[in-house]
Amino acid sequence: MSVEYLKKILTENSGIVCLLGRAQAIAGGCDFYREDYAYEIETKYGRSPGEIFSSSFFRNRPKAFYECYREELLKKRGGPDECNYALKRMEDDGRLLGIVTRGFFNHSRMAGCRNVVQMYGNIDANTCPHCGRVYDGKYILEHTPLPYCENCGTLIYPGVALQGEMLDNQQITRAADLIARAKVLLVLGTGLTSNLGSLVRYFQGNLLAVVNSREELSDYKADCFCEGNAAEIMAQAYPGNHPLDAEGSV
Ligand SMILES: [Zn+2]
Repeated sequence: MSVEYLKKILTENSGIVCLLGRAQAIAGGCDFYREDYAYEIETKYGRSPGEIFSSSFFRNRPKAFYECYREELLKKRGGPDECNYALKRMEDDGRLLGIVTRGFFNHSRMAGCRNVVQMYGNIDANTCPHCGRVYDGKYILEHTPLPYCENCGTLIYPGVALQGEMLDNQQITRAADLIARAKVLLVLGTGLTSNLGSLVRYFQGNLLAVVNSREELSDYKADCFCEGNAAEIMAQAYPGNHPLDAEGSV
């Protein structure tokens, strides 16, 4: 279906919630979600990303953990793209209620988005487990080999969810609540069968739009499907300088 239809949906509705998938992060220059990334990490460190980014590895070998955290996540985090900026414009215009993502690279907040539910944590929210002070990625990069809390001297805990840990229940509840309040659900850069896309089960609204690089069988459920580069599609569907009148919309 056409980008024009998506544009009509996004410019004529409020109460929109976005499920933001990994395609945006990859397009933004982030390495972590690339298909061949796991192999690269295994070759380089002799361990899988799952082993390294686990709570037991962090506890047992914090220096090695933080080295990898800096090199593989913080230095290769990439940045926001047009998906994030379009979402920011939608939020500024009072159309977007919020974003739910599994991504922890914090691109949406870097673009200025305010209501972002990060189910797997945030690379800029590394926290002191003792006093609760929060440190951004820059602080972790600058404090080698181990980053300690300036306040109380405790080793800072990484902001991303580690394997072997329970996910933050509060975030999951926030995500489900936000999706349940949506009138329009925009699934961006992922399909409905992905882990993130499966959250569509909480959606009770009336319009479901999917923007992804390829169509999946389950996407027939969507009212609007756009196939292609998510950033390019969002730049057209919610452009920077859209006219105040809606005459141009189809
Ligand atoms: Zn502290």
